[in-house]
Amino acid sequence: MTRRRHRLRVDGVVQGVGFRPFVFNLAESLGLAGHVANDSEGVILEIEGDPAGLATFRRRLEAEAPPLARIESVVAEPLPAVGAEGFAILPSLDSPGTSTCVPADSALCADCRREILDPGDRRHRYAFTNCTNCGPRWTIIGRIPYDRPFTSMAPFAMCPDCEREYHDPRDRRFHAQPNACPACGPRLSLEGEGVDPAADPLREAARLLAAGRILAVKGLGGFHLAARADDQAAVLRLRARKGREAKPLALMVADLDAARALAAVGDDEATLLSSPQAPIVLLERRPGAALAPAVAPGHRRLGVMLATTPLHLLLLAEVQALGAGALVMTSGNAGDEPICLGDDEARARLGEIADAWLLHDRAILRRADDSVAEVVGRRTLLHRRSRGYAPLPVLLDGGGAPVLAVGPELKNTVCLLKENRAFLSPHVGDLQNLAAYGFFQESIRTLQELLECGPETIAHDLHPGYLSTRWAREQARDAGKRLVPVQHHHAHLAAVLAEHGHREPALGLILDGTGYGTDGTIWGGEILAGNAAACTRVGHLSCVPLPGGDAAIRHPRRLALSHLRAAFGDELPDLPFLADQETAIVLRMVDGGVHSPLTSSCGRLFDAVAALTGGWREVRYEAQAAIELTALTTCAAVEAARPFAWEIDEAGDGLLLPCGPIIRGVVAAVRAGADAAEVSTRFHRTLLDLLVEASRRASRLTGLRTVALGGGSFQNGILAALLPPRLEAAGLRPLLPRELPPNDGAVSFGQAAVARAGLA
Ligand SMILES: [Zn+2]
Ligand SMILES: [Zn+2]
Ligand SMILES: [Zn+2]
Repeated sequence: MTRRRHRLRVDGVVQGVGFRPFVFNLAESLGLAGHVANDSEGVILEIEGDPAGLATFRRRLEAEAPPLARIESVVAEPLPAVGAEGFAILPSLDSPGTSTCVPADSALCADCRREILDPGDRRHRYAFTNCTNCGPRWTIIGRIPYDRPFTSMAPFAMCPDCEREYHDPRDRRFHAQPNACPACGPRLSLEGEGVDPAADPLREAARLLAAGRILAVKGLGGFHLAARADDQAAVLRLRARKGREAKPLALMVADLDAARALAAVGDDEATLLSSPQAPIVLLERRPGAALAPAVAPGHRRLGVMLATTPLHLLLLAEVQALGAGALVMTSGNAGDEPICLGDDEARARLGEIADAWLLHDRAILRRADDSVAEVVGRRTLLHRRSRGYAPLPVLLDGGGAPVLAVGPELKNTVCLLKENRAFLSPHVGDLQNLAAYGFFQESIRTLQELLECGPETIAHDLHPGYLSTRWAREQARDAGKRLVPVQHHHAHLAAVLAEHGHREPALGLILDGTGYGTDGTIWGGEILAGNAAACTRVGHLSCVPLPGGDAAIRHPRRLALSHLRAAFGDELPDLPFLADQETAIVLRMVDGGVHSPLTSSCGRLFDAVAALTGGWREVRYEAQAAIELTALTTCAAVEAARPFAWEIDEAGDGLLLPCGPIIRGVVAAVRAGADAAEVSTRFHRTLLDLLVEASRRASRLTGLRTVALGGGSFQNGILAALLPPRLEAAGLRPLLPRELPPNDGAVSFGQAAVARAGLA
């Protein structure tokens, strides 16, 4: 039979994920000859044999690739057959200029899980078990290439058993860089008051947790703070010490059954929970779940993740053996600071919070907070893209000069665009916080170093006061970098379009908190038209003063007063909360325009509506009122509801969506005795009807039929679920974010796309 030979170049996430042994075993099983190697671009292989075997190899290469591999392209080229025999894995081919993807951390795989729970296995109860299909990556990488000497596993010399696994291409641990076992790998330790130094650290840690103590646990991408989730006193103590009064706390459970005991878990949610990314998934709480009320006060939903590492699984198993179930597992930090990384940093920063520290002797080199997601319809909606996802690149269609984009002020991420790959940092957080600003600078350094790329172009937000903007300006001044200022909502639009590879102009329905507009007002309820290269404002929610500027974010009642004044003028309706002392002061600010920039923000309209129901006097974090208002209703209720009156003004150059009629409808309902749930339901219905009609009219005005949906308000599961089908029914083509969150976590990516378009 004729033999054929092919050279295949495989690009994507194909290093450090067991790709070469997979190729080796596949080729051997099909009786094919040749070799495979890593190079700076990805994987290159030559394969020789009969045509049928080669065809099968080609098909199975993509269909059966290892779980952590992500193939971007396979390019084949025919070669003359040389009569080769046997298949070999060759050493890495070094060539200059690394564009290889850095792999992300991955949750414990089923095989490793079985081993650590098996008393007969040599890795029984070993907290640092991993293989090519799972384990730490990003968080232990010092530099590229991803080889053990450049990771924080470098100080641990492999024992003979581990060496054998590491060098055997038939073994699951072939070239698993963090490979380790109890004989040779990292070890746990426990410190703190009242800790028995002779005791097993896991058992002793579990004993403390079961007794209601708070533990700092050194995990994968930083420290967590852990406490028993069914112990109200422990949870309250954790909240008080951490300075986290209201935000729901994430939970960690051992497995899907334990998750189901707390919350409803659908098939898609089960898949997401047990995916290699293992994010925190928002789930509907089960009535009567054994949880302290303080875990998620005022929330119907819970943030739940499965044990992501062997350490977490073993800890939960020990805790369960003592009669406790789920653990609160929240980021190890105080307030809004970034997650703690080093042992000394944790001892210092968590000293007032934790009672004891469960530590180990493997360094964490990169911070990665937990990712957060929910299932909407059948799609995954990311709220926070971090551990497990970052820094896997988002692909653009087409290359160009590299760009660094430094993101917005809140929910900051940074993005390095190199060729056709956009590398986003893990979640950085809110830059107003000094420690987060440090992490911001660290994230830029990390991406530039790992990718060996220091772009001459820096994209930043238009807002002159953002710390990210100031940092960019310093780079222009001190290092001669070229700056590209990008309007915040243009970045949101460009982010969604770039994810979909949509280059033509489209409409952008951008519903957001706040962002600096090109006219100096604060935008946030926008209908835009354009693409990455340029965009115009086609319509927006009517503007009201934002009393006190950003400070109003914490005081929803200020927004209610501002909207009431706009809707009713001097004749304010009789509402109980108007008796408040602050009312007169806020109204004077509104009327006099003192510290009150105008805003068309959708998020702030939610705040106003929430406050009009009488609740949410003060909130602890941005959008708390909106999130809690939304939690009071359901998609089914919204679809069945009667909307408030609304209208659209077709002004000379665009569409104005007045908030006044909606506010008057809310007030009439409240005065007729409607509770917050009813108001929420009818308000959501009103917004849906208004936005669908506004999109239809914007489409008529511009001739565009594609509508990109972005902005923080699309974290609202009801809008995210109901708006797209309604837009489709109106003959439009909605585009939702896929790999990135709709919120400000995607702004750096959008900035990069805009800057790239300007360089073309
Ligand atoms: Zn594994
Ligand atoms: Zn070993
Ligand atoms: Zn935004």
